[in-house]
Amino acid sequence: MQNSQPVRCGTIAIIGRPNVGKSTLLNKILGEKLSITSAKPQTTRQQIIGIKTRENIQWIYIDTPGLHQQTRRRLSREMVRDAMSALTKVDVIGFVVEAGRWTSEDEAILERLKRQAQPVVLILNKVDKIKDKTRLLPFLAACSEKMAFLAIIPLSAQKGDNVVELEKTVAERLPIADFSYPADQFTNHSQGFLVAEFIREKLIRALHKEIPYQLTVVIEQFEEQAKLIKINAVILAERPGQKAIIIGKKGALLKKIGTDARLDIQRCFGKKIYLNLWVKVKAESSKEH
Ligand code: GDP
Ligand code: MG
Repeated sequence: MQNSQPVRCGTIAIIGRPNVGKSTLLNKILGEKLSITSAKPQTTRQQIIGIKTRENIQWIYIDTPGLHQQTRRRLSREMVRDAMSALTKVDVIGFVVEAGRWTSEDEAILERLKRQAQPVVLILNKVDKIKDKTRLLPFLAACSEKMAFLAIIPLSAQKGDNVVELEKTVAERLPIADFSYPADQFTNHSQGFLVAEFIREKLIRALHKEIPYQLTVVIEQFEEQAKLIKINAVILAERPGQKAIIIGKKGALLKKIGTDARLDIQRCFGKKIYLNLWVKVKAESSKEH
């Protein structure tokens, strides 16, 4: 039976306003390997592509930050255009909203999606927050009036409930095509990029709004040995004051950022990680702790 199933491979964009749970969902689907989430919106700066291959199906997930990173007012025309052109190339669109809650930002995204030719799956996330499930029914009904969705799938990205249903629905709409990536590849990003993103995420979590988000993380060394990976990473701050904040009292904050990032990196690469994390002010030439 299995052999008679066609091989399918295609791309899926997961879109939605900040904080609806896009990253959580992708992590659940991709098996926690790309755990780059944050309680704060706007974590995702670049397109994260996560690849999943099971039997005859290869799903390629794409993030289109421009469309959901900022409120409609602050979106530049260029960002929207880029995001929309990225969307045009995908096979299926997954539109994430919060179950029981439809905001004006959701509405703005919906208006854009109506102009897309691809099938759109509406994902009602965080159903675990709705204790009385009968409350979902009128919401489902209202959603089905909004546009001709391919399907409406209530799920909990956090708990994993019904996520497989989403994957199956998407799979049926992927084109019949050979795999684009080897079956064991889970991202097209370099290991260095992933490490930098893990560190950046911990920085954003730790610093809240104290310092701007434009901190850069540079991976200076990535050396894979038989039993461990040695990584030297530098956080580039704009000003000495920022550097002091990142380091924290007696180095406590930097230590915490380093430990948290190391655990994520370890989980991602499945190997012991030795992480050496420094902070440097951009103009400085010498490294300091
Ligand atoms: P993104 O901005 O759309 O990528 O959203 P994130 O994945 O970063 O999630 C935003 C917040 O919602 C985080 O605090 C998540 O833990 C939380 N969250 C995501 N999915 C669920 C879910 O299914 N249930 C609940 N209760 N919380 C969730
Ligand atoms: Mg995110």
